[in-house]
Amino acid sequence: MTASVADPSLADLTRAELGELLDGEPSYRLDQVWDGLYRQRRPLAELTNVPKGLRQAIGELLPPALKLVRAQTADRGKTRKYLWSLRDGHLVETVLMGYRNRTTLCISSQAGCAMACSFCATGQVGFDRNLSVGEIVEQVLGTLQHVPPAARGGAVNIVFMGMGEPFANYDAVWAAVERFHGDMGIGARHITVSTVGVIPGIVRLAAAALPVNLAVSLHAANDRLRDRIAPINRTYPLRDLARALADYRRSKRRRISLEWAMIDGVNDRDRDAAELAAYARPLAAHVNLIPLNPTPGYGHSPSPSGRIEHFASELESHGVKATVRVNRGTSIDAACGQLRADKLVSIQRGGRARRGARAQQER
Ligand code: SAH
Repeated sequence: MTASVADPSLADLTRAELGELLDGEPSYRLDQVWDGLYRQRRPLAELTNVPKGLRQAIGELLPPALKLVRAQTADRGKTRKYLWSLRDGHLVETVLMGYRNRTTLCISSQAGCAMACSFCATGQVGFDRNLSVGEIVEQVLGTLQHVPPAARGGAVNIVFMGMGEPFANYDAVWAAVERFHGDMGIGARHITVSTVGVIPGIVRLAAAALPVNLAVSLHAANDRLRDRIAPINRTYPLRDLARALADYRRSKRRRISLEWAMIDGVNDRDRDAAELAAYARPLAAHVNLIPLNPTPGYGHSPSPSGRIEHFASELESHGVKATVRVNRGTSIDAACGQLRADKLVSIQRGGRARRGARAQQER
């Protein structure tokens, strides 16, 4: 019998739920399993202080939701992209970026995305479904298991900047955040939720107890352009978004980041900088400038680096702080906005089929 999508995986369970399942076992068993999985970040099979029969029983009852299909590396092994298949065959990706004293995991919250930002590879493919808590949490546990054991306990940053819109799957995202924070011991300041500007999510986050970081993917500071490149702007226009962000800042007292993909001739002129500065300054927001990553369905190019530097200094001259982000993993399509797992594989399948057809014709 194979597990269906609806059957929970071990990472779907809260500590209390696992406790109920282990009812009848000595009370320290729950600690052993839970701490092994989340504090020590080891796979169930490696928790040798737990009897093998019990590990097997748990593994059979609550099998993993994710299966590793492919791991790719770039930047001399410092950037790794993991492609996972879900039980229903959908694919999601996770990116691990290793730095000297920390590891950043860029995780997915949905299979595909419904937000349809024109320049984003995931948006170009469309939406499949929300991920469950377990599917989100397993991405983190699964990728960390590829980090040398000595480094697993090191500082980990988690950013919801993979596939999907986290605020379109708020409950599962938040349950995962609580697991990262409460059970894995990852500080709220090391967790970043990135949204295209889904206002109800921002309102809920403002009322949440944990002060995680909020990043907003702005990319345009006038409605005409933003309607075009981030169509959710037609539902949540810039002015309403600014109001929600101001409320968020008042209640959380946390600095907001605004993400801005630098697109040649589209949003990288001096007047774009002036508009962005006028938007960011009252919010005291920090701006991250990311050179556009070329994607198959979007004809534009990244701004030249000189223009990005100039744009950053324009912002500074208007009193707004900006950081130019260096892209990691471009060569393996692991950079921001390049994740499009479903299409990737179907193209490969199609490619094989086409090659096969050609080979047959030639024969
Ligand atoms: N839906 C969320 C999180 C996923 S996208 C959001 O919109 O924030 C993560 C980040 O990558 C966002 O800032 C997004 O705007 C950016 N991004 C998407 N496509 C990109 C591209 N082609 N080049 C550069 N950044 C891109």
